[in-house]
Amino acid sequence: MQNWLEAQGVRLVTNCKVTDLDLKTEDGKHIVTGIHCLRGDKSEVIAVNDDDFVFIQNGSMTDASSLGSMTSAPGKLTKADSGGWTLWEKLAQGRPQFGKPKVFNSCIAQSCWESFTVTLKKPAFFDKMIQFSGNQPGTGGLVTFKDSNWLMSIVLAHQPHFLNQPVDVQVFWGYALFPDRVGNFVPKPMDECNGAEILRELCGHLRFDPETVESANCIPCRMPYITSMFMPRVRGDRPLPVPRGSKNLAFISQFVEIPDDVVFTVEYSVRAAQMVVYALLDIDRKIPAVTPHAESHQAQFKALIKSFK
Ligand SMILES: Cc1cc2nc3c(=O)[nH]c(=O)nc-3n(C[C@H](O)[C@H](O)[C@H](O)COP(=O)(O)OP(=O)(O)OC[C@H]3O[C@@H](n4cnc5c(N)ncnc54)[C@H](O)[C@@H]3O)c2cc1C
Repeated sequence: MQNWLEAQGVRLVTNCKVTDLDLKTEDGKHIVTGIHCLRGDKSEVIAVNDDDFVFIQNGSMTDASSLGSMTSAPGKLTKADSGGWTLWEKLAQGRPQFGKPKVFNSCIAQSCWESFTVTLKKPAFFDKMIQFSGNQPGTGGLVTFKDSNWLMSIVLAHQPHFLNQPVDVQVFWGYALFPDRVGNFVPKPMDECNGAEILRELCGHLRFDPETVESANCIPCRMPYITSMFMPRVRGDRPLPVPRGSKNLAFISQFVEIPDDVVFTVEYSVRAAQMVVYALLDIDRKIPAVTPHAESHQAQFKALIKSFK
């Protein structure tokens, strides 16, 4: 993707944080005239010309995420450590049409969960999981330990999962929705556990011997805003992708208002980007429709059956 974009003349700049925008108002229209950013620790301002457009990421589910290791729990970061939400907060100050970021980022206790990735150099864990679940990796769904205090799940994808993954290495992913609760086999909340302790909790639920994950490397990842887009909201808390009265500024993210679409998906961000590009550049193309799965009789029937299980 990166190679393809660069071949089209796109200049990608990394290690650069956008911290603010210069905005002016003309005939009731908001116009961005400059982009403030930090490159390393150097601040700079990028001038925005009359025919330029500015597409801004307002909020991110992975903001302030932190990694642990086999011997350390991830640090407990907040938006104050990462600064990712600050830009949207600054832009929305005094401009109600730019949404209300605080609705989404003010309660880490409700928006946090933790994931972990495990790298194995011995096949014992995968072999035992195949035996236990009856599924080859990549063919079953998630395995959820529904009675676990942390509400933990794991996913064994088809192997190799990564390009150039060595044949004798296997990887899997897992997560837990209640990392602030004490475990069933480890007497600690997950968000205070290192990778070794998470593996101990996992093996406890599976009734697997600890040797099954011998030499495994488990990296925990705490994500304080991972479900922030599901926080209770009302219309107007999320801006329109192209906010009312904006001449050259648009928002692209999981925190824009798109009727009927479902957040926590790549599709949502892609649709937002299509909408703003077509609108601001006046491109006459249709946005792919959202399929109303929730209204299908089959889905509703399945939901009814499930609700009685
Ligand atoms: C663990 C996990 C599992 C998921 N599973 C699925 C799945 O199965 N299916 C699915 O469809 N979706 C899934 N998602 C969701 C999907 O990954 C996201 O919805 C999608 O990546 C959001 O895309 P985005 O471009 O809006 O934001 P992001 O991918 O978050 O990208 C935003 C980028 O902007 C950068 N940025 C933010 N603020 C600034 C700033 N001020 N200055 C400079 N850069 C900035 C960030 O660093 C980041 O690189 C999952 C997400 C996670 C975390």
